Amino acid sequence: MLLQTTIAGSLPKPGWLAEPKKLWAPWLLEGDLLEEGKRDAMRLLLADQEAAGIDIVTDGEQTRRHFVTTFIESLKGVDFEHRRTVRIRNRYDADVPVVVGPVGRGKPVFVEDLRFLRGQTKRPIKLSLPGPMTMVDTLYDNHYRNREKLAREFAAILNQEASELERAGADVIQFDEPAFNVYMDEVAAWGIAALEAAAAGLKCKTAVHICYGYGIKANIDWKKTLGSEWRQYESTFPLLARSKIAQVSLECASSHVPLELLALLKGKDVLVGAIDVANDTVEKPEQVAATIRSAMRFVPPERLYPCTNCGMVPLAREVALGKLKALAAGAALVRREVGL
Ligand code: ZN
Repeated sequence: MLLQTTIAGSLPKPGWLAEPKKLWAPWLLEGDLLEEGKRDAMRLLLADQEAAGIDIVTDGEQTRRHFVTTFIESLKGVDFEHRRTVRIRNRYDADVPVVVGPVGRGKPVFVEDLRFLRGQTKRPIKLSLPGPMTMVDTLYDNHYRNREKLAREFAAILNQEASELERAGADVIQFDEPAFNVYMDEVAAWGIAALEAAAAGLKCKTAVHICYGYGIKANIDWKKTLGSEWRQYESTFPLLARSKIAQVSLECASSHVPLELLALLKGKDVLVGAIDVANDTVEKPEQVAATIRSAMRFVPPERLYPCTNCGMVPLAREVALGKLKALAAGAALVRREVGL
């Protein structure tokens, strides 16, 4: 089947697990109850995705407080008790972990979650990991003091984790690199190389997600400064087209990205963001279908995967659920129309 749907990654957590509509929301359970709660939440969000008609499912990132810092906090060489405030993506301040010595992966981070999920569904599973550049941009480095060097270290750690996720049954491993829309010179100088090192040797599908961020105020304000045409992808896509990464997940819905830039990804699978995550209004299936149709002018249907613009963790649960259904229904509309 063509036009298979998937999501960027995260979904809102149940209100009994973490405070709703909040980034870095603290857990509301502890100890064994927390572990049990995370698994129950994964099952619940998996059932929501399947019922909505999402083809390539995720764990909804139910076991992470944050898509980057949860991974970083599991590593050796990182102090996450004495946090420092840094400016993330040149945009907003956050309290982040500090690199205090050589970094290393102590133990698998998401491998058990993936095994659990694999036992719950027959559908293909996509698992997200933070990309090396975005990791570097989400901490305070008091040891290497060199972004490229630290990114290379992280790439090696990510590669270990990704290889184990692949063995545990992941069908797609996605690296989230919102930093690729901000530090364009570094993307060309070492960002793509670090990303490829993170994905080296994987036989499952590999993806990179590049977006304009969650629907939080700092990101919405930043987007207002980007002018009438957002052309950040223009410098990144040709580099990605030449890379070994198989899929690119990007933002299209309600955005100012000129769609002709998608043509720069010739030969790659394109995960087209057809759901706006910065808006509480649930799209009509016809709106989703219109975004997919526009993208099909530049991406052949066999390479097009309707997706969300970004993660939906900051949204209300019923809004996110409505958006999942709209995504699947919109893709089904286009499939019927073109007889796929
Ligand atoms: Zn995103």
